[in-house]
Amino acid sequence: MRRSRRVKILATLGPASSDRAAIEKLFYAGADVFRINMSHASHEDLRERRETIRAIERDANHPIGILCDLQGPKLRVGLFDEAVILEEGATFVLDRSEEPGDIARVFLPHPEIFKSIDVGHQLLLNDGKLRLTVTGHSDDRIETVVNVGGELSSRKGVSLPDTLLKLSPLTERDRENLEYAANLGVDWIALSFVQRAEDVAEAKQLIDGRASVLSKIEKPSAVEDIERIIDESDAIMVARGDLGVELPLQRVPGVQKRLTRLCRQQGKPVVIATQMLESMITAPVPTRAEVSDVATAVFEGADAVMLSAESAAGKYTSEAVATMDAIAQEVEQDPLYTQIIHAQRPAPESSATGAISAAAVAIAMDAGLTAIVCYTSTGATALRVARHRPQKPILALTTSKAAARKLALAWGLHCVLTEDPKSISDMVTRACRLAARVGMATQDNKLIISAGLPFGSPGATNMLRVVTVDAQAVKIANSSPETTGPDFR
Ligand code: PGA
Ligand code: MN
Repeated sequence: MRRSRRVKILATLGPASSDRAAIEKLFYAGADVFRINMSHASHEDLRERRETIRAIERDANHPIGILCDLQGPKLRVGLFDEAVILEEGATFVLDRSEEPGDIARVFLPHPEIFKSIDVGHQLLLNDGKLRLTVTGHSDDRIETVVNVGGELSSRKGVSLPDTLLKLSPLTERDRENLEYAANLGVDWIALSFVQRAEDVAEAKQLIDGRASVLSKIEKPSAVEDIERIIDESDAIMVARGDLGVELPLQRVPGVQKRLTRLCRQQGKPVVIATQMLESMITAPVPTRAEVSDVATAVFEGADAVMLSAESAAGKYTSEAVATMDAIAQEVEQDPLYTQIIHAQRPAPESSATGAISAAAVAIAMDAGLTAIVCYTSTGATALRVARHRPQKPILALTTSKAAARKLALAWGLHCVLTEDPKSISDMVTRACRLAARVGMATQDNKLIISAGLPFGSPGATNMLRVVTVDAQAVKIANSSPETTGPDFR
């Protein structure tokens, strides 16, 4: 089981994709990682979805990533008895009284906002449809003037693009979900509405190595602190939905390009998300503009493209995955793809692992080798290789199921479980057989292998070998497909 593309597909699960048959269909259509959105899922939902995914993984004997997305501090206004229409030029007050709202005021159940807001700040309501400017504030009252009016009703979202809030990115409920998910065993935990690198550090401390951390970039303050956030995170999501509420929409494409480049430089996976094939929620074919949007993300060298409601609640869930898969395959075969993706060369890295990985990629290209095989304990070495977006296929060999599942999100990595080699000759034989088995190489093809001596010690990549696949390796690969050691079954 090997995908015919390098970019990965992240599919959100939801009511339209909750049972085994539906999830399996998404997987075989091309989904590499599944997202469970804790804004809508219970602990029980997460546990069931995880069990189903692991069962599919076992049967396919192919690593599948699971990403648990924490809701984060989504801010909302309080209740109204009935919807009101705010007119442009009117004044409107947000306060601490739990009385139902009316045309003049509403309850704002977030005390932190009153401490951090300032005169002149923008206050966006209902996904940015209404725009208010703050004219005055105290500990229990924010006075505003309406710049863009519209309908407002109970529990509508509040965005504060200008205000750095003194709140943790993790609500009480997020903390419970984080603990539950980390104990249960998921591969990625996503943090919503991250504002600064310290938010990520706090979550990492709680997760304590039980999962990798993906920061969703959906606040202007996060864009401003992006270098430090990338440093602190294991991966990034360009969360264009909320980002497009808090930033003028026309700024989002530029931010997307900048974040993609920065992440590629650092070798941190970057996911492009939201409305990629939005019209497929209700239609079997996407719009031309959507096809172009997915293609742009692939041309830029993003690690993964994401589906939200398209795969969670739409009418054409597996068709949406198949459409993404077809677009990605087509782009990656376009002669311009290589040119565009390699227009930015990643800067050299001074670590031994970084330098050796760069050398492996260069040698594979210059010497006309067939594939790059890298032994990786934690997945770190594989990410150093993937960062170069090599033209040659990458086979990542690991003893760790956790590493293989995590790497399901990363560009170009096909991961296979194996045991640690017992010797250098065992390392070569194993690499040749496995490359032949997955169809990356055949007799007389040459491979480059990167590994670390002593075998199995993380952070020790220190060796490169160029080897030729012999007839014996191909024969064994074809005749005894079950004997390579550990697998997902
Ligand atoms: P969400 O995040 O779907 O959890 O809101 C993605 C986004 O905001 O784009
Ligand atoms: Mn969001």
